[in-house]
Amino acid sequence: MSLDSTVTAGADSKLPDPARAGFADKLYRLDGGHSLANDESVWTPGENVGRSIAFSSTCWLIERGNQRLLWDTGVPESALNDPKGWSTLPKLIVYHLDKTLTDQLVEIELKPADIAYVAISHTHGDHIGNMALFQNSTVLIQRAEYEWISSPDGADDNVNQLKALARKLMGAPKHLRLLDGDTDVFGDGSVTLISTPGHTPGSQSLLVHLKNSGFIILSGDVVHLEENFERDTVPSLNTDKAASIASMERVRRMISTYNAKFFINHDKAETDKLKLIPAFYD
Ligand SMILES: [Zn+2]
Repeated sequence: MSLDSTVTAGADSKLPDPARAGFADKLYRLDGGHSLANDESVWTPGENVGRSIAFSSTCWLIERGNQRLLWDTGVPESALNDPKGWSTLPKLIVYHLDKTLTDQLVEIELKPADIAYVAISHTHGDHIGNMALFQNSTVLIQRAEYEWISSPDGADDNVNQLKALARKLMGAPKHLRLLDGDTDVFGDGSVTLISTPGHTPGSQSLLVHLKNSGFIILSGDVVHLEENFERDTVPSLNTDKAASIASMERVRRMISTYNAKFFINHDKAETDKLKLIPAFYD
């Protein structure tokens, strides 16, 4: 069954009908840190060996009525202005944080306790660095992702290291909702979590619908760079290459179906051009 038929299918489809989807009110970008990696070829196998590359880490806050959903939580606040930075894989990548999420929320007169939902694209440390701030929020994560970080160690030390860090940063959320695939968060098609596995077993992306801006897809790590998306390039760290390519294809179809804009989390050149809190998309 093609995605297009899924979109227009009946009641069992979790994806919104583009013509009838409800609206979120505001979408804010928060700066979740930035990083420098010493070998771009991890993200572009066979090319750019030994070349350094800068990435953005991006979080997004969605307001819908009096409810708020935060998409990813960025680099830990403890890394703020630390010249040595913070790392998930010390031999490869170092992260820096110039402003905390808490201080960015203050700019629109919010605090972490005001966030009802925290949705996690996946469990790499730069996406879940501040889960401890959101102890009272409902955490939305794919079941496959949660089971993966809880599974026994395998042969790849990098992966084992990332999973151990993920367990530590996730802690034990009080309100954990494990998702099985696409999920319409508010039941009106305004905010939909989209299953895009491959980078990790339970990676997801997010489709948001706004009155003026239309549909926007927040990538998660389904791709890291615009050029990877154009060429179906799969980073060597991804857990499943075939699933990664299928997920990129799925997102491409959704961009077409929903006439959506696509914001790539880690593409720093593109991200730096987007609005930043307190500015917003509506
Ligand atoms: Zn990642």
